[in-house]
Amino acid sequence: MPLRIVVGTNWGDEGKGRMVDYLARNADFVIRFQGGNNAGHTIENEFGSFKLHLIPSGIFYKDVVNLLGPGTVVNLEAAYGEMDNLRKQGVHITHQNYKISDRATICFPFHQLQDEYEESRLAQAMFGSTKQGIAPVYGDRGIQVGALLHPQYLKQEIARCLDLKNSIFEQVYNKPPVSPEKAFQWAMKYGELLKPHICDSVTLLREAQKRGKRVLLEGQLGALRDIIYGICPFPTSSSTIASFGAVGAGYFSSEIPIVTGVMKAFSTCIGEGPFATEIHGELGNKIRETSFEYGASTGRPRRIGWFDAVASRYGAYVSGSTEIALTKLDSLSGLDTLKICTGYRIDSRIVESFPTIPDLVKAEPVYIEMPGWRDNITAIRELGELPETTQNYIEKIEDLVERPIRYVSVGPHREALILR
Ligand code: GDP
Ligand code: MG
Repeated sequence: MPLRIVVGTNWGDEGKGRMVDYLARNADFVIRFQGGNNAGHTIENEFGSFKLHLIPSGIFYKDVVNLLGPGTVVNLEAAYGEMDNLRKQGVHITHQNYKISDRATICFPFHQLQDEYEESRLAQAMFGSTKQGIAPVYGDRGIQVGALLHPQYLKQEIARCLDLKNSIFEQVYNKPPVSPEKAFQWAMKYGELLKPHICDSVTLLREAQKRGKRVLLEGQLGALRDIIYGICPFPTSSSTIASFGAVGAGYFSSEIPIVTGVMKAFSTCIGEGPFATEIHGELGNKIRETSFEYGASTGRPRRIGWFDAVASRYGAYVSGSTEIALTKLDSLSGLDTLKICTGYRIDSRIVESFPTIPDLVKAEPVYIEMPGWRDNITAIRELGELPETTQNYIEKIEDLVERPIRYVSVGPHREALILR
């Protein structure tokens, strides 16, 4: 398998974890390249049902090395806790198959506090953060995981970081300062537990490249939450697109990757920001309930919308997708009519390219309608066996997003997939 990158083309939660769990069968390394435990991936396979945050989705294959790359942000306590929980669920995790780059950045409890304080300061104007401290870490000159191996240096670094942060806590948020000693003790405790997993990932991957190892990069959230190309000012604090993969994973290759853009067959969005095709009321609630659209990290209800071809075409392009995995088609079963947004009416113009916020907030969706299907399609594994209306819906989306749909997911389970 050549280099492959799996990314989301929408607002996140498209089923990236589910696709990585499937595709990792052909990988030697699975590397998360951005974000932290703000992201949540749900996986259902022969071993059970799992929610992953800081453990890459290749962990269910015993020979795959799962790495948190240099671009990620690691809450040490959460990483250890997740590993512990997964082990209790029977997943085999060792320092051989789960590694953390020494260049990844540590997310401390004081980052979580800062995230909470800032969201409450903003009150109604909040960004909808998961309050895991991720944005404050990316906003800092952070402390890298490798510092855990050098306690004196770590101590100095914590003092440096808290010097400014404590003034902000006291003066801006009216909160007590954080004890550097307490932060240090926390880091030493979890650092000790995670030590066997910390590695020089750049050297590891350089060697792996020489030996022709197969690498799969796992993205987080979706293109429309990217810090530059997302719906500013409501994006996440890092990059979600494939072009950032090399930097975030620390895997530098001249190979042209296959980029699998995971795209949901309808829209969901968690957190704040404009969402043009949102379905309010009973129908939205019905789809949310039948497809259980609640955040994997926070449990928050996801907002539901019709398929938005304007946003998805943009998302497929900026994410660098060379092919699409269309997910959750089964969740649309039972609807008589499906709408697809093919343009935005902004003032009196019809726009087909995805605009920035000042126009996006004014966008009214222009829809086409397609007949739906009633059948339960979860057990189907051949494209030709899908109802004709389902096949038409897939072809319409492929046309509109201008990328080939290579995978069609019809259920959350690893094998509930149609290859095209
Ligand atoms: P990620 O963040 O992109 O990995 O996605 P999440 O795991 O947060 O959310 C996707 C949800 O959809 C999870 O609950 C998956 O189990 C589920 N899922 C993925 N693909 C399908 C599918 O084709 N059908 C159904 N019904 N559920 C799916
Ligand atoms: Mg998710």
